[in-house]
Amino acid sequence: MTDQPAGVAQEDALPPQPETVQRLRPTADLATAPPVVESGAPPGSGDLTQELLRSDQWTDQMLATAGIPVTDVPLVSVGGGIGSFVTVDYLRIAGVSTDRIKVLSNLDFAWQTYEYLTRVSQIPKPERIRSDSASRPDNIWGFPSYALAESVSERTFAPLWQVLVEPIFADYYTPKAGRVFAGLERESKRIGWNQMVVKGQVRMVRKRQGGGYFIILTPMAGSTSTKRLAYRAEFVHLAVGYPGLKFLAELQDFRTKHQDFHHVVSAYELHEHVYEAARTKHLVVMLRGGGIVASRVLQRLMDDRERHGLTTEIVHLFRTYITSSHGPNAWNRRKGADGFAYQGFNYPKSVWGGQLKARMRRLEGDDRATAYKLMGGTNTPYRRRWQAQMKQGRNAGWYRTMAGTVDEMRLENGKIVSCVKTPAGMVEVAADFVIDCTGLEADIAEHRVLADLLQHSGAGRNPVGRLDVERTFELRGSASGPGVMYASGATTLGGYFPGVDTFLGLQVAAQEIVDDLARRGFCRRIGTFRSIRQWLRWARNKQP
Ligand SMILES: Cc1cc2nc3c(=O)[nH]c(=O)nc-3n(C[C@H](O)[C@H](O)[C@H](O)COP(=O)(O)OP(=O)(O)OC[C@H]3O[C@@H](n4cnc5c(N)ncnc54)[C@H](O)[C@@H]3O)c2cc1C
Repeated sequence: MTDQPAGVAQEDALPPQPETVQRLRPTADLATAPPVVESGAPPGSGDLTQELLRSDQWTDQMLATAGIPVTDVPLVSVGGGIGSFVTVDYLRIAGVSTDRIKVLSNLDFAWQTYEYLTRVSQIPKPERIRSDSASRPDNIWGFPSYALAESVSERTFAPLWQVLVEPIFADYYTPKAGRVFAGLERESKRIGWNQMVVKGQVRMVRKRQGGGYFIILTPMAGSTSTKRLAYRAEFVHLAVGYPGLKFLAELQDFRTKHQDFHHVVSAYELHEHVYEAARTKHLVVMLRGGGIVASRVLQRLMDDRERHGLTTEIVHLFRTYITSSHGPNAWNRRKGADGFAYQGFNYPKSVWGGQLKARMRRLEGDDRATAYKLMGGTNTPYRRRWQAQMKQGRNAGWYRTMAGTVDEMRLENGKIVSCVKTPAGMVEVAADFVIDCTGLEADIAEHRVLADLLQHSGAGRNPVGRLDVERTFELRGSASGPGVMYASGATTLGGYFPGVDTFLGLQVAAQEIVDDLARRGFCRRIGTFRSIRQWLRWARNKQP
């Protein structure tokens, strides 16, 4: 496993990657790494020359002079994660053959980063993910639902019953992570995903003089004779996922000062050693954050306590402590208690097809930024099991919550002491481990490909600072002759459609992109008859 964060390119010579999950290490940990100095390579070397590095538009001749081999392909998707996967899935269903698409990615399989992040944040295969069957990334029709599929394969009515009585008499039904991965694997084989993937690290996308784009790939070490490969494409799709993770300043200062990446960890890093240590001795663990990841980590600590008879104490710090239902008015409220804000899914349902969706499509500038702020805020689903466990912990005194912000962290007698500014004054909390579940995302410019786009290809930022895309997910300002660049996923949050960083959001984006490409004559439109015919092929596991 490399220690490089997904999407934060510090590459240039990619080592062979036996297990290529890219660990999302908080970007600030890389701050001590020497900056990448960009100086051009000599012409004919197969690498980026000074002329290429500084030109906003490239000619075919510039690539030839540099000695970089060029491959023509009509459409390139950059990233190769779930965003690329669902877009390519739509394209295949819209009649595009595998030889007209290339997916440039550092992943071995499309759900690799997702599987890694869910696993380390305590959603291993047998556990249930947050979203329901509103979206199946392996099935654009969403039928049969995950609940129906689980019911049939496990010969039980329980999932169907749960769907019938949720959320009043049962928690929302959501599928097990393992089922989601298995579905993705099946669909990946069906659409010929591996035939389209080229492994490596994308370095940049630049406009081509005369139309279209060049995409520069640093291939796997030893796989080619030149350091770079170029793809010449009319259409580009960017789905590079999270630009990187960011730690809160005081956590970062502590890690840098003490070079301690063991006792202060992010929930998005492998931190199994914390649970292992808890099995060997009494521990105090400080948790920070109030979202689903904090709930999952908390559940793991509580489960282990119960299962192995441990004595772990948990101090849970919330920056914003929610005590009751809250919101701007009687119609727009979210439930809350004991620190948490509760919401079944990470967006209100009307985002997907209701009034909110329609309203967001009309909002511009500050109005859109304000609307995002209103519907935002950390939240987690209300699950009965978690409630029972927390209640037991509160009563017995091993689970304590507090509200505040940390001013400083120091090391004292082997403990990490956090100085917490609370409404009642300063409180010091000593813990053996601190698990940060705040999950701040880094700025898009931390991602090398996106930084290059902002600098050279006319891409701009939306009202919340991410990539500015049209309603069709075209990257505004980056058109190149008949060529179009699209973007989907977390890097486009803040656009006309809010739920971009979810399976359903990625599918909505994919549908918009494929409709736009159909208008431009690249593929067929997925109309009623094609859709029915293609679903029948999906059901029989036949290629599109
Ligand atoms: C813990 C957790 C739980 C979640 N649970 C849910 C859920 O229950 N339901 C839901 O709908 N959503 C969920 N999500 C969100 C979901 O994971 C994302 O919507 C989805 O995975 C994003 O897909 P993506 O393609 O944008 O990013 P990814 O799947 O991360 O793929 C992008 C990949 O591009 C690659 N890449 C980046 N830069 C380059 C480059 N320069 N060259 C080559 N490759 C590059 C990286 O490997 C990167 O991982 C969850 C997210 C997390 C973190």
